[in-house]
Amino acid sequence: TDFGYQEVPKTEKAARVRAVFESVAGNYDLMNDLMSGGAHRVWKRFTLSQTGLRPGQRALDVAGGTGDIAAGMAQQVGSTGLVLLTDINAAMLAEGRDALTNRGVVGNVRYSLANAERLPFPDSSFDCVTIGFGLRNVTDKAAALRSMARVLKPGGQLLILEFSHPVAPGLKPIYDAYSFSVLPWLGKVVAKDEASYRYLAESIRRFPEQEALVAMMQEAGLDNCRYHNLSGGIVALHRGYRL
Ligand code: SAM
Repeated sequence: TDFGYQEVPKTEKAARVRAVFESVAGNYDLMNDLMSGGAHRVWKRFTLSQTGLRPGQRALDVAGGTGDIAAGMAQQVGSTGLVLLTDINAAMLAEGRDALTNRGVVGNVRYSLANAERLPFPDSSFDCVTIGFGLRNVTDKAAALRSMARVLKPGGQLLILEFSHPVAPGLKPIYDAYSFSVLPWLGKVVAKDEASYRYLAESIRRFPEQEALVAMMQEAGLDNCRYHNLSGGIVALHRGYRL
């Protein structure tokens, strides 16, 4: 299969998102650990436990960034399988390639610049498609969901790991205070980039609630859609199948 490159269109939101991630690419992993208190590792590990991937299968990580999810899936599909790590941003993709190479994850991983809204892969290519903390940044989410559903093989599943909306009693005010005060402050002090982390907090607040995302997934043609709240709904893992 030719997993070719494609031109990335420059819409206004896409340009802003690109600027944010170019700015954060270098200290992205450090910021993830600081911002989530290391919890992002637990959320990703749970996601990996749900892929159902077996040796020899094919997986796609969309908006893969520094490649944590892709690295785990590469282990699951083994040397006879294949994982594609994709991102819209060349700087992030380069970080991902370096990170995986340093971790010794080589041989069954390929890299490709790709917009989630228009994945440049043939229909029915993958057993599992993941997008971790990426859908929030996509301009046309419906298009991205359709595109990810299209490249799934029949029976394959899409896993969406994303910030969501706290459901645990009493958590919301604490969480809001954290995301609108502590987060921008961390961004300023550690990443020297307050604006990007303010954007992050706003993009999380605007993201569809758990049930709304389920409805969007169904709209995109996915079946058996459901979700699992993590950390009281701060994060949710959504799952849907292509039948
Ligand atoms: N999946 C990684 C993780 O969980 O650590 C990276 C997540 S990072 C917060 C979001 C990524 O989405 C960035 O690398 C960004 O470049 C990418 N991104 C934003 N818009 C995108 C789009 N339309 N298509 C593909 N990737 C996109």
